[in-house]
Amino acid sequence: MTFDYMPWWSDRTKKFADEVENFMDTELQPRAIKLLEQNKDPMTIQWEASKLCIDKGFHPLMVLAEEEYGGVDQGYAGYTILNEEVGRAMININPLLTSVFGAGPIHLFGTEQQKQKFMVPLVKGEKWASITVTEPDVGNDAAGIQLSAEKDGDEWVLNGWKRYITLGAISDYFMLYANSDPDMRRVYRHLTAFFVPTDLPGISIEKINSLIGDVEMANSVIRYRDVRVPEENMILDPGDGWTVMTSALNIERLGIAGVVGSSRNLLETARAYGRRRVQFGMPISRYNGVQLRMANISIKMNLTRVFLYYLADLLDKGEADMFSFGVKSSISKVFGTQSLTEMALDALFICGGDGYLQEIGVGGVLKNAALMQIAGGSNDILKLFIGRNEFMQEVDTRMLTPSVRGPTEEDAKNL
Ligand SMILES: Cc1cc2nc3c(=O)[nH]c(=O)nc-3n(C[C@H](O)[C@H](O)[C@H](O)COP(=O)(O)OP(=O)(O)OC[C@H]3O[C@@H](n4cnc5c(N)ncnc54)[C@H](O)[C@@H]3O)c2cc1C
Repeated sequence: MTFDYMPWWSDRTKKFADEVENFMDTELQPRAIKLLEQNKDPMTIQWEASKLCIDKGFHPLMVLAEEEYGGVDQGYAGYTILNEEVGRAMININPLLTSVFGAGPIHLFGTEQQKQKFMVPLVKGEKWASITVTEPDVGNDAAGIQLSAEKDGDEWVLNGWKRYITLGAISDYFMLYANSDPDMRRVYRHLTAFFVPTDLPGISIEKINSLIGDVEMANSVIRYRDVRVPEENMILDPGDGWTVMTSALNIERLGIAGVVGSSRNLLETARAYGRRRVQFGMPISRYNGVQLRMANISIKMNLTRVFLYYLADLLDKGEADMFSFGVKSSISKVFGTQSLTEMALDALFICGGDGYLQEIGVGGVLKNAALMQIAGGSNDILKLFIGRNEFMQEVDTRMLTPSVRGPTEEDAKNL
């Protein structure tokens, strides 16, 4: 099986896709299967898988980063290929994804000095970063961040809470957004972004309650009490936090949408099972009802995949203005993650009772897909953003009748 290339990919990208596919099939998946056979718990498997990716040069941040920072500069296409393939192999590399989401703002906006200091060790997998937006009273309303930042000489003093922080208890850095000027909220200039070392005095970390799914990644509540952060750890300028956050969320949403990879696994599972399983004297793949379910999986998988690589291409060619890209990445995230839930259910029902077996893997995809509908902005909220944006666009009246668009001056003349 060879990777299903996009027609616009360069030879370099195609070669990279082949390398990733080969790595998955010959190294990462066999290693994960071995660990499963040894009854290792999901967290151990995720860490082992993440470390193997780092050793072999397949850390998503390494794929994105330029060569001068230790990366291989395969752009967002390479990043998406890696995410897709990891999904196809049904392997979770949550620690790596968290770190790339956490490091995203440095990759996008960091100064040369910040990139050398922070990004290089992150790319090598020697350090880890978390993204810290959510607070006890702040979820989807991310502009409502309460954790405060006050300037004192050439330092900033942080006070407040963050919650639900993946890798919180083990990260080396928190990518943090703080409220530095509440009066500027109306114009979205109230937030400032900081890259905060986790060992600063005044930071305390507590593990949150157990989670469902295989994402028990040292998820934590973080308290900041008079934490002093040097100005050099600020990303861009005071008041730029909203721009930093929304731009970095694009990397996160593209990564989340990369879950489409697991749908390729679902499709193969359903195909193999549907052909093999005989009921009422025939393989169930011959029944229309089963074919309709299979069609649902195929349609959603193919559409998600093409849109995802189109978005990656826009970013790689520098043709994405961040606002309109935010709408597109939201569309991709909503459609991809909602579809994944539906595809997983279709695959599960094709496999009947066997679909409910742990070893088939569909249950894990379902739990992951539910989380992906919540993280990176809940799908419902993103839909509101998409819908509102559509109503803000100019009406293209060319194909509309007067009863829809209202009469023009020209119509009035012809009356
Ligand atoms: C496993 C896990 C890992 C996570 N990791 C991180 C992390 O590393 N870093 C981080 O910062 N956060 C993290 N989060 C938090 C996650 O990003 C938030 O849970 C998410 O942003 C949603 O916020 P919330 O849970 O507070 O939901 P809320 O915003 O309280 O929403 C609750 C419900 O109300 C609905 N709702 C809210 N407002 C409206 C509205 N105006 N109109 C219609 N419906 C509305 C939402 O759609 C949702 O259904 C993690 C969460 C989980 C579960």
